[in-house]
Amino acid sequence: MHVKRHFSLRFVFLVPLVLSAVVFALTVKNYYDSVNRDIDDEYNRIQSTLTRAAKVITAIDYSFTNYSKTKYIFLLEHNHQIINGVCQMWPIDALLLADGRNLKMPAVDINYMLVGDAELCNPESTAYKRVSGQVSLAPVLSFMHDIEPSLLGIHYIDKEGYIMSSPDTYAKTITTELLDTVKARPFWQQTAQNPELITITGPAPIPASSELVMSMTMPVYSLGDHEGMLSLDVSYENLLNTHGKLAGSLGILNTSMLSLPESAMRVLPLNIESVAGTHVLYYMFNLPGEIGNFFYFERYSLLVVAIVYIFSVIVLFFINTRVEHSYFKELAAKDSMTGLLNRRGLQAFLENTHHQKYVAIAVLDIDDFKAINDTFGHDAGDRVISYMADQISYSIRSSDAAARIGGEEFVIYMSGSDNEALQKSMLRVQHAIGERSSEVIENGFTVSGGVEIVDGRHANDFELLFKAADEKLYQAKTTGKDRLIF
Ligand code: GH3
Ligand code: MG
Ligand code: MG
Repeated sequence: MHVKRHFSLRFVFLVPLVLSAVVFALTVKNYYDSVNRDIDDEYNRIQSTLTRAAKVITAIDYSFTNYSKTKYIFLLEHNHQIINGVCQMWPIDALLLADGRNLKMPAVDINYMLVGDAELCNPESTAYKRVSGQVSLAPVLSFMHDIEPSLLGIHYIDKEGYIMSSPDTYAKTITTELLDTVKARPFWQQTAQNPELITITGPAPIPASSELVMSMTMPVYSLGDHEGMLSLDVSYENLLNTHGKLAGSLGILNTSMLSLPESAMRVLPLNIESVAGTHVLYYMFNLPGEIGNFFYFERYSLLVVAIVYIFSVIVLFFINTRVEHSYFKELAAKDSMTGLLNRRGLQAFLENTHHQKYVAIAVLDIDDFKAINDTFGHDAGDRVISYMADQISYSIRSSDAAARIGGEEFVIYMSGSDNEALQKSMLRVQHAIGERSSEVIENGFTVSGGVEIVDGRHANDFELLFKAADEKLYQAKTTGKDRLIF
């Protein structure tokens, strides 16, 4: 006979697994959505940074177009020197505060440099005069550069070959060769072709540095004449830095020059008002990093998945055990008179119980019961049977079992690791029954029994055990009664 479980073992483990898999899938979906949201956020951040940069360059362009050619010669306020044939000019600190301004105004770090041919340093030269007309805008370059942290540099390249640049770091590296070739460079041509638009180029390294920049360039026109070029460098690394928010990396690429890497996802054309370019934003998928981030960011959800799994396995196990218990009760329909198991119940119990090293089966029978019936009546006989059942119940442990198998015959099951202890326990039960039996019937009564003790591994065949014990009971009856035979 098999224990009829409510759920199979496979069911107990698989159903929670499916349940957990569903929760896990939802967690993955949640993570996927949050990565996509983060990418959207980063794309928006990048586009708005570039939009701000475009506004900066537009504002400077407006200033150059409308406010240059001032009569006032600012260059008197500048230091200058000639290095390797390059004239460098930079502001004297006094320029920081305009006339009449309160000293409590927030300090602005003014940092720019003008570079050109050696001739630029000569106050009599035409280049000097030209610079004088434009230099009032140099602080604006510096202010804008100071305000927007992603801006690495802002430069004005004049058609006459001098460069106004903020900060001064880039300007210091400019050589005569660069000054001579600046107009031949592709960006100059490209930008000049788009007079109404800002041209975006890059990512490309800036000269004398390994740092990559996205550059925005715009031609400066004054009264219809092409005067020069404004150029603004945005740090590529700074622009794309997600500060660990995303496992993969972001990239910007000019699709007219390069093709996208294979693992590029979420490709989005860069769309900045009044900026011309064929650039796209993309996300480089990184599976190991993505898995790492998933386990880090979703650790609490994953903990819930594990708890859901363990909890549902436990619940199903619990239901199973409960069902098993009630099943036994049902199947092993108890003896109605005593509340002990009946023969079937004991049989089922025996087959479905984990036995210890030894199993003892005792068959007990009241001595001379017929006489009790005859002397005190059938009802008194019944009370004796009930009394005996109670005594047995009180004397055995919860892991033992007792059954009434007809008339005044009882079977006791015990299991233990010690053969002798089992014998003692059976004797104790027999003694307990006889000891107070005079309380239920005058002069009391005695019981005889046969006890079969076997290896726990071979204790499942009830009939065999019962037969052996019953034979010993017969011996007890024929050798004087009131005894147990082992
Ligand atoms: P022994 O010592 O050899 O066991 O003698 P005994 O008289 O007890 O003989 P046996 O065990 O064969 O007697 C069983 C008697 O038990 C027969 C029947 O009248 C009586 N009996 C069986 N079932 C019941 C019951 O439910 N109630 C009562 N009062 N008597 C029963
Ligand atoms: Mg009897
Ligand atoms: Mg009998």
